[in-house]
Amino acid sequence: MEPTVRVRFAPSPTGHLHIGGARTAIYNWAFARRHGGSFILRIDDTDAERSTDENTGAILRSLRWLGLDWDEGPEAGGPHGPYFQTQRSEAYAAALEVLKANGHAYPCFCSTEDLERKREAAKVAGGFSGYDRTCRALAADEAARRITAGEPHVWRVAVPDGRDDVVAVDAIRGEVRWPASAMDDFILVRTDGTPTYMFATVVDDSDMGITHIIRGDDHLSNTPRQIIVYEALEVPVPVFAHMSLIFGADGKRLSKRHGATSVEAYRDEGYLPDALLNYLALLGWSIDGETTLFDRDTLVARFDLARVSSAPAVWDPEKLAWMNGAYIRSLSPAAFAEVAGPWISAAGLTADVDTLARIAPLVVERVTRMAELPAVVRPLLVGSAELAFDERGAAWLAEHEWADEVLTAALDATRDVEPFTHDAIEAAYRGLPEPLGRKPKEVFQTIRVAMTGTTVSPPLFESVAILGRDEAVARLEMALARGFAVIDSGGDAR
Ligand code: GLU
Repeated sequence: MEPTVRVRFAPSPTGHLHIGGARTAIYNWAFARRHGGSFILRIDDTDAERSTDENTGAILRSLRWLGLDWDEGPEAGGPHGPYFQTQRSEAYAAALEVLKANGHAYPCFCSTEDLERKREAAKVAGGFSGYDRTCRALAADEAARRITAGEPHVWRVAVPDGRDDVVAVDAIRGEVRWPASAMDDFILVRTDGTPTYMFATVVDDSDMGITHIIRGDDHLSNTPRQIIVYEALEVPVPVFAHMSLIFGADGKRLSKRHGATSVEAYRDEGYLPDALLNYLALLGWSIDGETTLFDRDTLVARFDLARVSSAPAVWDPEKLAWMNGAYIRSLSPAAFAEVAGPWISAAGLTADVDTLARIAPLVVERVTRMAELPAVVRPLLVGSAELAFDERGAAWLAEHEWADEVLTAALDATRDVEPFTHDAIEAAYRGLPEPLGRKPKEVFQTIRVAMTGTTVSPPLFESVAILGRDEAVARLEMALARGFAVIDSGGDAR
């Protein structure tokens, strides 16, 4: 029977969660869920200088926001804890004892200066530039004596002599092979007793029973050395799956130059978690090469490492924005109201959920990011006293000498229309152009400007119905009296 799938996401808290890291987390999560396995979160915080609690907090928040729940890890606990590398020194010490006992590691007393000198000499001579294994030849009692005497030393892995190539059958890239002759007796434990990344990662992955290591191919070059450590510890080697990194359209590795890179930055611009999850999942994986929009359950049901591409994934911000717009449009009015609420209040506006649900169909076509929402709905939510006109709106009234005639007729119609519903308002306003001898477009645009202060707004009749009769009347009166402030729209072409 296949062992139960156990995968991990092991971020280093040296920064916030990057979108590339988020994609790694999504693939691990989806793989675990697909196979009824466990998704483990481990914090690789051995870089004491650059790791912060603040970053760890941001990573946990970002994962939660994306809806990626972990079965074991910080705040979740679990039988293989602790889940912070800095708290796992006992595990590394125990693993070193195993290697001491089986002879697959040895202490090395060479000084940094010696090593540097040898490296330089090897460089000049050409050929193998790794550690020359001087201390591997030390007799056990001699090594033990020097350790007891307190001589500083590191612990190195003893790469077996005459070993075959190191081979990994990568679930994404197929067979990858490295010559064993190029394998250095690299350091596992430093002079101060701390484990290197290479050692800590393998000890943790082994102790945590990780069956599949799904990660970015920037770690591919670490894989042969990690395989050597698994073998030294005499524990099973997990399946590796290295996915291509994400690149910008310019072919360069994704970085700040290409725009926001942290998950929280996308959250703050008003991307929906489901949209970002969908988009990231497609960066290097596909259901069938066609399906673009799918929900979380479909991702879990269909996720397959065999369909992860080894070709570079290209970041396409326009596709992401399009996808986000599609997700916004697919929200029910009630769901939209729930999502919109915080954006509305953060902008200093107020609207109850019923109002937001009524507004939803008017505005979903007009926003691709929730951060754009407040500007679009502002005219519908503020009182007439706070409604400022933009320059185009003010110019429309100033430039059409018949504008006041239209406003006066609209005022009468607005006062009289019964009931004050979308249909009745539409019927009443559609009756205005003919007696005034004006085109419908001229009339409706004039009313639109009075109602919203701008020439571009959500659909007119619906907007007026949402404003209500009193507010609509007040706005028409204010327009007639030119009693509004004009804000500089900065040449904004809206
Ligand atoms: N902590 C490592 C990183 O942030 C990941 C280690 C691994 O996936 O093996 O890149």
